[in-house]
Amino acid sequence: MATKGTVNVQTENIFPLIKKFLYSDHEIFLRELVSNAVDATSKLKVLSAAGEAKGELGDLKVEVILDKEAGTLTVKDRGIGMTEEEIQKYINQIAFSGAEEFVNKYKGKEGAEQIIGHFGLGFYSAFMVAKQVQIRTLSFKEGSQAVQWESDGTPEFEITDIDKSDRGTEIILHLADDSLEFLEKSRVEGILNKYCKFLPVEIKFGTKTEWVDDANGEKDDKGNVKKVEVQIDNIINNPTPAWVKAPADLTDEDYKNFYRELYPMSFEAPLFHIHLNVDYPFNLTGILYFPKLKENIEVQKNKIQLYSNQVFITDSVGEIVPEFLTLLHGVLDSPDIPLNVSRSYLQADGNVKKISAHITKKVADKLAQMFKDDRKDFESKFEDLKVFIEYGMLTEDKFYEKGEKFTLLKNLEGNYLTIEEYIEKIKPLQTDKEGKTVVLYANNFDAQHQFVEAAKERGYDVVLFDSPLSPHFISKLESKLENVSFARVDSDTLDKLIKKDDEAPSLLSDKEKETLKPIFEEVINKDKFTVHFENMSEKEPPIVITQPEFIRRMMEQQKLGGGGGMFGAFPEMYTLAVNSNHPVVGSILKKQKDNKQKLAKQLCDLAMLSQGMLKGEELTKFINRSIELMK
Ligand code: ADP
Repeated sequence: MATKGTVNVQTENIFPLIKKFLYSDHEIFLRELVSNAVDATSKLKVLSAAGEAKGELGDLKVEVILDKEAGTLTVKDRGIGMTEEEIQKYINQIAFSGAEEFVNKYKGKEGAEQIIGHFGLGFYSAFMVAKQVQIRTLSFKEGSQAVQWESDGTPEFEITDIDKSDRGTEIILHLADDSLEFLEKSRVEGILNKYCKFLPVEIKFGTKTEWVDDANGEKDDKGNVKKVEVQIDNIINNPTPAWVKAPADLTDEDYKNFYRELYPMSFEAPLFHIHLNVDYPFNLTGILYFPKLKENIEVQKNKIQLYSNQVFITDSVGEIVPEFLTLLHGVLDSPDIPLNVSRSYLQADGNVKKISAHITKKVADKLAQMFKDDRKDFESKFEDLKVFIEYGMLTEDKFYEKGEKFTLLKNLEGNYLTIEEYIEKIKPLQTDKEGKTVVLYANNFDAQHQFVEAAKERGYDVVLFDSPLSPHFISKLESKLENVSFARVDSDTLDKLIKKDDEAPSLLSDKEKETLKPIFEEVINKDKFTVHFENMSEKEPPIVITQPEFIRRMMEQQKLGGGGGMFGAFPEMYTLAVNSNHPVVGSILKKQKDNKQKLAKQLCDLAMLSQGMLKGEELTKFINRSIELMK
C-alpha cells in the first residue's frame, strides 16, 4: 500500500532554496549522509550492548556505492533503520520545520554549510545534488515492515512497503544533471578523505587490490610462498584515530605516525605534542603538535583540524583558539563547539572562550613542564619555539605570566638564561647611575660587530634578539619589567647607553670643538646626521655612528605593522659622535684646509663602512681616496 502526502512545510518549494543557499559547498551532502549512517550504526551498537537490540549485529560497515549506469550514489548502512512512523516523524516533520527555520535565519549568510546538520537538515542536503532521492529502510525492531520513502525534490513524497530483509538504511541519490561529478570515483574519494577520514565506523568505498601469500602455501622457483592478487574492501577511514585513545596507550612513534596520517605531504616531524582530554566543564579531546616553524610562518598557520565527534568540520579554527595557537598543527574534537551560529557570535560564546583559555593554559603548562624536566633539551629546541612563545606572550596576558618563566635569552657566549637569571647576571655592571639595568642587545652579532666588541671590552654582555617579532617583544618586556630598559648596542655610545657618574675629561678644548664641528658637518648629510662630541676613551673609534633606539624601534614596528603607525613614516636619523679623546681627531686641526676635509670625510666614511652604510658612489670614492692616501 502506498501513502502519499505533502511534507509539513509552508515554504512552497524548499529545495530550490536549499540548493541556492548552500551552493558554495555542495559536496557537504556526502558528509551529512555518511555521518547519519554512522550515527545509526553507533546507536545500534549502544542498543545492542544494552540488550535492547536482539541478535547478531553482523558486518556493520557503512558503504558508499557509485553506479554510473544508473546515475546513482548510494549510502548504505546496517544501523537501526527506520519504521514508517519514524520516517514520518524524523524525515517529514522535523526536517522540514528545521529547514524553514534555517532558511529564514541564514539566507545567504556565511557559514551556512556548517549549520545544515544542526537544524535537522542534514538529510535534505541530498537535494543539493539529486533530482530524486529514495530511502529504503528496515528498522532493527522485531517484526518491522521495510519501507521506501521517495521524493523528487518537491514537497510531495511517497511511502511504500517494500521487500528488504537486510536491517538498516539505504539512501539512493539519483544525481541531477549538474552534479554528475559525484559519480566520479576520485571526486568522491576526495570528499570522503576530507570529511570522513576519522569517522568511528568503518566506511567502505569499493574494493582494492592487494597481494597476499597464496592460501595453499604454493611456492615459486626461489622457494618463497607465492603471492596472489585478491580484492579487499577499500576502507577509507581510521575509526580509532590517536586522539580518541588514552595517552597511556600511545607511544611517541604512534603520535608521529598520526601526524603523518594527518599531513601526508609533510616531511618534517613535529617537535613534540600535547594530548588534550577534558570532560568537564566541556568536552574536548585532541592532539596538538608543535611544528618546526619556518621563516614564513603564514604558510604554516591554520592547519588545525576541527572535528565534532570525529566528523570533520573545518580547518579554520581561528575563532576558537587564540591567534598564536593557530601556528600549531593537529586536531581538536568537541561536540560542545556550536556550529550553528555565525563567526562573530562564536567568539563571544562561553564554551568557546573556556575552550580557548583551557588550550592556552595547557600549552603554557606543557612548555613549563618541558623546561623543568629537561632544561638542556628545552634549550636545544628553543630556537624553534622562540617565535611561537614570543607571539603568545605578546598577545595573551595569561600566556605571558607563564611564559616569563621559561623564555630564554641567548647571550654572547651562546648561553641561555631566563629573563630573571639574566637581569641578575648583568645587574652589577650594567646598572646606570639612576638604578636602571640596561639590557644591551643585537639583532645580528656580525652586523653590529664593532659595537658588540666595544661592549665586551667593558665587560658588558649582549643578548641576541633576532626573531621577526623581536621589536614588539622587547617593548613588551620593557613594559612588564621594573627598572629594566633595552637598548640595541649600536643605538648610542656605551657611555650614553649606560650612564655612570664618572665622566672622562676631554682632550679637546671647547674652542677646538667649535672649529671642528663645521668641518664634519660639511662632509656629511646634515638632514640625516647630528654631530656632537663625546669624551670616549682613546681605545674607542674616532667616530661612531648610532641610530637612536626609539627611532629604530618605531621604524621596525611600523614595518611589522601596528604600533607607531599613527605618526606617519619616520625619517631616517643618526647620531655622529666624535670622540674628543682620539688623537686622530685632534690631528685634523693641524692639517691644511683641504686636507682637514679629506681626513674628516675619511673618518666619517670609515664609521659608515663599519655600519654597512657606505654604498654605491660614496663607496667607490672612498676606495679611490684611500688608495690616493697610500701613495
Ligand atoms: P540530524 O541528523 O541532524 O538529526 P537529518 O536530517 O540528517 O538531521 O536526519 C533526521 C533524522 O532522520 C535523524 O535524526 C535520524 O533519526 C533519521 N535518520 C537519518 N538518516 C538515518 C539513517 N541512515 N538511519 C537511521 N535514521 C536516520
